[in-house]
Amino acid sequence: MICRHCHRAPISRPRRLCWSCYYRPGVRELYPSTSKFGRRGVGNFYGTRPLPAFPTNAAPGSPEKIEVLAERAQLKLNLWHPDDATHATPALAVAKAG
Ligand SMILES: [Zn+2]
Repeated sequence: MICRHCHRAPISRPRRLCWSCYYRPGVRELYPSTSKFGRRGVGNFYGTRPLPAFPTNAAPGSPEKIEVLAERAQLKLNLWHPDDATHATPALAVAKAG
């Protein structure tokens, strides 16, 4: 296998880079880790976090709700607000948020 940056030297460093590309400033940042242990995404945590400022009207499982959850995770907030819309109480959540 050859280096994915210079396409000349054999791979000898992580991220499928050769030695000189891996240690050349700026090159390593262009190629994210290929390791299954590499840290990616917004991270993970366990415990209680502050509640989000507002509940969401997005239906459970909808792309909008997933977008809201991703935003909350990025802000390190609790993923779930007690007044979020559910399948059982979609109208209640709309009335509270509206
Ligand atoms: Zn290289």
